[in-house]
Formats: sequence, C-alpha cells, structure tokens
Amino acid sequence: MVWNPWHGCRKYSEGCRYCYVYRRDGSVGRDASEVTRNKDFHLPIAINRRGDFKIPAGTVVFASMTSDFFLEEADPWREEAWDMIRMRSDLHFMIITKRILRVQDCLPPDWGEGYPHVTILATMENQEEADRRLPALLALPARHKEIICEPLLSPIDFHGKLTEAIEGLTAGGESGNDARPCDFEWILSLRDQCREKGIPFHFKQTGARFIKEGKLYRIPRKDQHTQAKKANL
Ligand code: SF4
Repeated sequence: MVWNPWHGCRKYSEGCRYCYVYRRDGSVGRDASEVTRNKDFHLPIAINRRGDFKIPAGTVVFASMTSDFFLEEADPWREEAWDMIRMRSDLHFMIITKRILRVQDCLPPDWGEGYPHVTILATMENQEEADRRLPALLALPARHKEIICEPLLSPIDFHGKLTEAIEGLTAGGESGNDARPCDFEWILSLRDQCREKGIPFHFKQTGARFIKEGKLYRIPRKDQHTQAKKANL
C-alpha cells in the first residue's frame, strides 16, 4: 500500500537526474517541481462506510513515493503526517528518503529511539552519497533502518562500516530511456559486503542497461525484475 501525503519534489542528487516522478508528470504536462499536499493526505486515518479504517491493521505502508517525506517544502505538513503515523501504530510505515541528512531535524518530539512501526530507508546511489549518507543513517535514532542503492550508479565501498543496525540493503539499476548502466560487479560487491555483516541483501531489478562480464545489455522493462531474480543472490 502506498500513501502519498504530498506530490512533487526538487532534484537533490545524481540519483534524481531521471526521476520517475518528473518523467511521469512530464508525460501528462504536469510540473513535478510544484509541491502540493494531496487530497489523500489523511489516508492513514480515513474511515470507510462501516466505520473501519480504510487501511487495515497489519498493512505495510510505503510513504511518499511521489516525493520525499523529508523535503523542505513539506516541512509545514509533516507534523500532521507524524500525528497520523503515531496514531496508526497497527501499521508499518516504510519511509524512503534521499534527505537522510535532515531527518534528525524533522522527527516528532516523542520519537525517542524511534517508533517501533517505522522503518527509515536511506537511498545511496553512488560512492559520494554513501560516504555522506551512511554516517547520518547510522547516527540516526530509529528502530528500523535500511539502505537502498537504486539507481546504483557506481561501485560502492562501505569501508566495513555497515552494522547490524541496518536491517536490509536493496540494490537495482536505473529504468527509462536515458538509464545509466549498472554493472553486475557492483551488485555482487554490495551482496558480499552485506553477507560479511549478516545483512539481508535484495537485488531488486537490473535496470534498463545492465553490464555483465563487460558486456552491456538492454533489458526491457518487463524483464528487469525477473532477470535480477534469476541471478539468485
Ligand atoms: S528525491 Fe526522489 S522523488 Fe525527489 S527528485 Fe529525487 S528521485 Fe525524484
């Protein structure tokens, strides 16, 4: 289940260059740089005709998939979003962000060591961002933390700094016509670094341009997930 409290975003780092929100909005003549609160803002506490929550207990909710939950432009709305998240402790919220460096300043007052029903997932697309963002993720008080290396744009060496506080790492290539290539060697290196620390690793998808043993393959969108699965990592 996806909950998009606001829509639109500002490009922030290399991984944003071919952002799918911009791509999708552009295709319907919408300007993705305009950030607006969605009419579905209150979805987590929305009630159906029977008086039950529309989102049933136990659901995993991916928050802000057409924006970034920690985007500056959304600062005025976030407190209310946190209120709803706090209220729905029977759900599990997955919050993916490139702006892990500002998360600490955007947490609710009663966050403490983190809400047990919230996972913070920090995106790190290349070495430079991994060097910048991993320390921020490790220092962040949160009960659940994960890393997403997608679109993976370079090899990443975590220099042995991954810890058991990281509950998972997902990697994948870039999609779309302009996709930059992703090399299977980079994926294997991430898998090995996770294995060394006992961190679950998931190779999600190859992306549209995938290099294996030095050869570049164009992978149609429909095959990007299945090809990754076949690698059996
Ligand atoms: S942070 Fe995410 S949603 Fe925002 S521009 Fe970058 S890729 Fe797009």
